[in-house]
Amino acid sequence: MILIDGKQTAEDIRLEIAREVASMIDKGIKAPHLAAVIVGEDPASQTYVASKEKQAKAAGFTSTVYRLPAATTEQELLGVIDFLNDDPDVDGYIVQLPLPGHINSNTVLQAVAPEKDVDGFHPVNVGRMALGLPCYVPATPHGIMELLRRYQVETTGKKCVVLGRSHIVGSPVSILMSQKGTPGDATVTLCHSKTAGLAQIAAEADILIAAIGKPGFVTADMVKEGAVVIDVGIHRIEAPDTKSGFRLVGDVDFEAVAKKASMITPVPGGVGPMTIASLLQNTLKAAKKEIYG
Ligand code: NAP
Repeated sequence: MILIDGKQTAEDIRLEIAREVASMIDKGIKAPHLAAVIVGEDPASQTYVASKEKQAKAAGFTSTVYRLPAATTEQELLGVIDFLNDDPDVDGYIVQLPLPGHINSNTVLQAVAPEKDVDGFHPVNVGRMALGLPCYVPATPHGIMELLRRYQVETTGKKCVVLGRSHIVGSPVSILMSQKGTPGDATVTLCHSKTAGLAQIAAEADILIAAIGKPGFVTADMVKEGAVVIDVGIHRIEAPDTKSGFRLVGDVDFEAVAKKASMITPVPGGVGPMTIASLLQNTLKAAKKEIYG
């Protein structure tokens, strides 16, 4: 069984990006500039944005974070979005979700200029992805595809089952896996909470991607011998035996499933670390104007 090491792969990507940024700067080209907007004090979002800022700087990017109070109105936030859309120095930016309840996330995400939408959430980027056109692929599906590519997982003609149809993970990864290319060219089944016979469908998968949001949902009987298992879930569960009192687990019962899988992503250290690396890859593409010219 091969453990798919997302932590190491993400580190490799960051080093590749840092080398490319250093060579851009040597040639007199400005460093890529990633901005982030965060509204309110949600601790998980604060941690996540701080981590993005640190890793962007480590890759040689310019990083700017706009920290706005929870009481910011939708109009005020749209003003910041306009400013970032117009700022020629900013190559790409993200609006950290979730936003406070009084702000309509769709309105805000649709105001982001598609060519700066490095999270890939704007309908223009989603539509281009669905059509197989150049676009910013959202960070988590991008990271999953990158792991499959770098671990040379054979996907052509394989049965891929995706568990979960969210707009940020399940749905886009199912589209990408079914498209022409490598990785891709798989025969994809997308399962959700209304799927009948999910366990049997999952058990036929050569590649099983779990993005359900339920700790340990995928048990060994739902996995084919030799399958490649990608676990997207992240859950903090109580673990009185550990120093911190908690541990992170995924949507897959790792101990039991690892005995049947040919390759598997651990949690933590699998898909999770790939997310920020993917965001940096998208920002580098934005700086090089690879998608929109
Ligand atoms: P989500 O928006 O809650 O979507 C969950 C999906 O799973 C929905 O499509 C839902 O079906 C389906 N589902 C839920 N319970 C089910 C059941 N019992 N049987 C079949 N389908 C079921 O979640 P998400 O944002 O995609 O995230 C999924 C997990 O990945 C979470 O643990 C999240 O923390 C994690 N995550 C990790 C990363 C990372 O970087 N590693 C990034 C994003 C998310 P319906 O559509 O029918 O409701």
